[in-house]
Amino acid sequence: MHDGAILSRSVASAHPLPLVPRPGPGRAAGDFVRRLGLVASAFSVVQIDINAVTRRGKDGEDAEVTLCDHNCTQSVRGRPTGGHYTCPASLSLNPGVGSRDVAPAELLVQGLLTTADGIRAAQQDFLRDDLPAYFREESVPGHLRPEFEAALRSRHISVNLFGGSPELHPGCVEIIEGLRDAGMETHLTTTGRRIVRDPEFRARLLRMPPDVLAVSADDFGSPDELDEWFALDPDALARLWRSVPAAHGQRRKAVEAVQICKLAEREPLPPLLFNIVLHPDNLAFAAQLLDRIGAHVPGAILNPYPVQSAFLGEQGALGEEDLARLRDVVEVALDCHVTRHLGGVPRWNLAPRLPYWLLLLSLLDMDADTAEVADRVGGAGVWTCYSRRGSGRCVQIGWGRPAPGKRHAGGHPGCFWNAGTVTHPRQFWDLGASEMAEWILDGRGRLARDAERPCAGCLFPRMSLDGVSLELGLDRQVTDAYRTVRKHYLGY
Ligand code: SF4
Repeated sequence: MHDGAILSRSVASAHPLPLVPRPGPGRAAGDFVRRLGLVASAFSVVQIDINAVTRRGKDGEDAEVTLCDHNCTQSVRGRPTGGHYTCPASLSLNPGVGSRDVAPAELLVQGLLTTADGIRAAQQDFLRDDLPAYFREESVPGHLRPEFEAALRSRHISVNLFGGSPELHPGCVEIIEGLRDAGMETHLTTTGRRIVRDPEFRARLLRMPPDVLAVSADDFGSPDELDEWFALDPDALARLWRSVPAAHGQRRKAVEAVQICKLAEREPLPPLLFNIVLHPDNLAFAAQLLDRIGAHVPGAILNPYPVQSAFLGEQGALGEEDLARLRDVVEVALDCHVTRHLGGVPRWNLAPRLPYWLLLLSLLDMDADTAEVADRVGGAGVWTCYSRRGSGRCVQIGWGRPAPGKRHAGGHPGCFWNAGTVTHPRQFWDLGASEMAEWILDGRGRLARDAERPCAGCLFPRMSLDGVSLELGLDRQVTDAYRTVRKHYLGY
């Protein structure tokens, strides 16, 4: 499948990286592998949709959806909105929903504290029962194993609050305070709208702010547009925002991303992280876009990834030219990891995910036709969160099925993107720590085996988390290709 002769320029220049951890001031065991993304900064991260609500459909059927104040669709009543994708949380798809059955802050925090206990129980089981086999199967060099183990023993827990617009939750600030009081790293994935437009909310938020604010940057029309918007003052940006029709949610989000960056120049906002979906309409200028965001917001973490399609049962969205452009981005991303590893300053300040980029390179270099490569890049038959113990260490919590007697919507361990494969029938605040641990390591696989149409896979960087979970969840058809590329970079 993989043609070794067309390994990238960066592979040739980088192989293999010196993987020798050096002790140094302030360096802890495990830092070395964390900086490359071989192991994540926490054994598990939690992504929780705190805004799940019930929507009554025209046919009287209830469904759980997410409360959002944006409309990110490609069209509304047949009229194009300029959007590049359709988000199920969009306003126009969920008329009339409100926050009446959203789970209260105390219940969510209580559930998250128990989830943290469940993660630690799963961690102990994984370290004892699964890590030795992982080391053997992946031929991890002996001198690196203590580093992997130290990083995987981390007690750190990271929670990402997301779902529609999480700041619409009436207890958003209290949830952040509860998690930070418990010592959990807390990220808020936001459009930025309420933070920009509601000074009272912003003041409350900044009393105990989230550790990271994550915003989207995948809907800019061009790098020049980005520069033009960054040159505007706050009043001009507000006028620009008002000129965008409400139905054009992706465009509004793009303006809001700039507004929040400009606000961060004047007020002490948390560090910013940019999620950037790479799609056919921005791949032509993706590298310049990343350059310009890095220049306008020094220090911001950049998290680009190709648009995903397999989890929806759809074909890959990228054509031949898109894939060639994506390959250019992948090469720079790999060079960035190499540069940072060797002590230099990388062109882009990327989230550390070397194995993720190695996998993308191996998929793009497949000896296969364009459609197959596009499907793979869109996640088909590459990685799943449910194939083996330890592949799905990212805990997602969100919507499930409405049921009689359910007081609050949401709260189901599962998957925000594919609700029909690994979704737990019960809500997480009713689960004990050992039940959560069981779901993390074994329950997903059990549910997937019973699923009518199990998810075809995905390559969301947050879901695949780090090198260990990525490698454990890889489909056998791509393992050899991935290992070939990894050997060139990492020597094993
Ligand atoms: S996390 Fe699991 S269920 Fe969700 S899209 Fe990925 S593979 Fe599918």
